[in-house]
Amino acid sequence: MDRSQGKAVKITKEIFQVGGIQLTSSEDAAIYLINFDGHAALVDAGCGNAQDKLIANIRSCGINLEEIECILITHCHYDHTGGVKALHDLLKCQIVAHEWEAPFLEEGDNVVTAATWYGAKIQPFGVDLKISGGQAEINLGNRIIKAIHAPGHSPGSIVYLTESEGMKVLFAQDVHGPIHPDLRSNEEDYQRSLKLMLALEADILCEGHYGVYQGKKKVADFIKKFIVGIKRPL
Ligand SMILES: [Zn+2]
Ligand SMILES: [Zn+2]
Repeated sequence: MDRSQGKAVKITKEIFQVGGIQLTSSEDAAIYLINFDGHAALVDAGCGNAQDKLIANIRSCGINLEEIECILITHCHYDHTGGVKALHDLLKCQIVAHEWEAPFLEEGDNVVTAATWYGAKIQPFGVDLKISGGQAEINLGNRIIKAIHAPGHSPGSIVYLTESEGMKVLFAQDVHGPIHPDLRSNEEDYQRSLKLMLALEADILCEGHYGVYQGKKKVADFIKKFIVGIKRPL
């Protein structure tokens, strides 16, 4: 495949957006690529409707597919995970998700993963590394990515926090919700998780559907929009 066919959005010299509405398919949530000196990870995988485009986009960042060591799943919803099975078959990389999210993916639960909302079926797959408890550290090369449990939108939602170019980068897909019984959402947990995300004081927020926010104030203002009872930014 011609590397020049791919497109990606550079966020830092190590972090790119490689999937999402403008980049792969209209149903895809954002897909991010982290490249720490030849040790790479994807954050989420989209629906899987446009895998060829995704691969071209990854290659356009100068990454070889063999360098992708893991897919970090933020939560089980189809717009983030429908593409994981096919991508894993191709990349043979490790799949990371929270232990409370894994059963819905391993058993292919079309309701809780919201696949039914898309008129689709989730392709089940195994989760190799199940995050349990509130926090865990994932090594990528000689760098660290923190996985932090942030339930609410779904029971096992995870946000991933790392550093790049001296800035704190937060991958927090679906900060905006929604809260819905099909998704086993919990409003109280969601509000607590939003405050947790705010307290991380990230410099860059990579969101699932609203794109990338740069600068501590812009990140905080976006998160605050969804916190009940807090003074809203104008
Ligand atoms: Zn979701
Ligand atoms: Zn989503």
